[in-house]
Amino acid sequence: MIAVETFEGKRVAVFGLAGSGLVTAHALAAGGAEILCYDDKRERVDAANDAGLPTGDLRVADFAAFDALVLSPGVPLTHPAPHWTVERAAAAGVPVVGDVALFDGERRARFPELALAAITGTNGKSTTTALLGHILGALGLGAQVGGNIGRPVLDLDPVPGIAVVECSSYQIDLAPGLTPDVGALLNLSPDHIDRHGTFENYAAVKTRLVEGSRQAVIGVDDPHCAAIAHALEEAGKPVHRIGVFASVDEAAGALGRSGVASVGDALFVLTGGTADPVGSRAGIGSLRGDHNGQNAAASIAIAMAMGADPKAAADQLASFPGLQHRMEEVGTRNGVIFVNDSKATNAQSARQALASFTNVHWIAGGVPKTGGIAELADLFGRVNAAYLIGQAADDFAATLEGKVNAARYAGLEQALDAAIAAARPGDVVLLSPACASFDQFRSFEARGDAFRALVKARIEATDA
Ligand code: ADP
Repeated sequence: MIAVETFEGKRVAVFGLAGSGLVTAHALAAGGAEILCYDDKRERVDAANDAGLPTGDLRVADFAAFDALVLSPGVPLTHPAPHWTVERAAAAGVPVVGDVALFDGERRARFPELALAAITGTNGKSTTTALLGHILGALGLGAQVGGNIGRPVLDLDPVPGIAVVECSSYQIDLAPGLTPDVGALLNLSPDHIDRHGTFENYAAVKTRLVEGSRQAVIGVDDPHCAAIAHALEEAGKPVHRIGVFASVDEAAGALGRSGVASVGDALFVLTGGTADPVGSRAGIGSLRGDHNGQNAAASIAIAMAMGADPKAAADQLASFPGLQHRMEEVGTRNGVIFVNDSKATNAQSARQALASFTNVHWIAGGVPKTGGIAELADLFGRVNAAYLIGQAADDFAATLEGKVNAARYAGLEQALDAAIAAARPGDVVLLSPACASFDQFRSFEARGDAFRALVKARIEATDA
């Protein structure tokens, strides 16, 4: 844990006591801050109390007495409406910050040898964070992975090396002066607008991460990020562009002075006018699909900006185990590959998985998002049959009508068994629901775990 000493002797209100909030409270207390912790949920306040943290009802506290309000990233700062703690802090002129800001302040004040690589974007944050952590770790550079990906940043160890931190837009919003050594913005597409009001605001928040960085790595596959890369470079910031291209020539035109390109399975470092092949994703199951070309290119570019040799970095791709629930290969049976993409909770994410395979037996459904799967019509040709579950089943069946063989099933197990019965060697059974899980599962993780367990059981039954 990193004790937050920059707030020693200060009075700090801490709101939000799930996961990272508790760690943050402990880190502040360990650094000598006088804290008062609170949460809307009684059981969280009780848990904090049991853990020896001072708690109190912030609704009746005098905010003028606080030097700061430390907010969990899950709590609305601005949209749809500021949380009441934020309004009370604003009325009393008290600054509002989050754990990433505390971490960065501490790092700069006391642990300058702990470098920060911060990663954001609409999609691919966790994959790129994990992949970069894997690469830097394998190269012996003392990588620690944290932030939005799971381990709270203040839980990291204050030792020399590189902190690889996934930042959600909410975390960036709560870290006004964030100054990573390398900041990466992978891509931008309309998402989470509910929490940021407008796309412009959402993009502005994400842009802050690269603006504050000493060096920026920016994915230029979408026009928003390409414009941001241009503006930062004009302002004198070292920018490394990354992207997915059809050819090296196309990459050379788009990447400018410095960058990393994914062309098919190959990865190239472009410097000046030359393109140097540094590695390949061919045959790497954890990095299938163009979207993972973007993630791999970003990881290599960030590793390079951190001083690593790009070829040595690319050599580590093959041993990347991948993340659970993101196109995770969970087994093969009679030549059929089973893939758990439970994290695909919307059509846009399911698109990446469908685009990565052919002869797909597609298990989809759950709680649908607006628009359903209609936007995936260009990929229906890759689908041999669809197995529909949950609330979305009727709606998805209607969309697939006349285009893809589809049937409805009571649950995941029945859908899987039907897919197993139909799949032929070379086919893929893919759980990529394009839906939230809450009608049948506690979380997308629980859904993916259930799928993995069912597949394992079917494989063991075959082997027995
Ligand atoms: P995040 O942390 O940003 O939510 P993840 O790395 O967890 O992203 O990936 C979640 C899903 O998003 C993946 O299952 C995949 O469908 C899709 N995805 C991953 N990387 C990218 C990318 N670079 N561009 C677009 N979509 C992506």
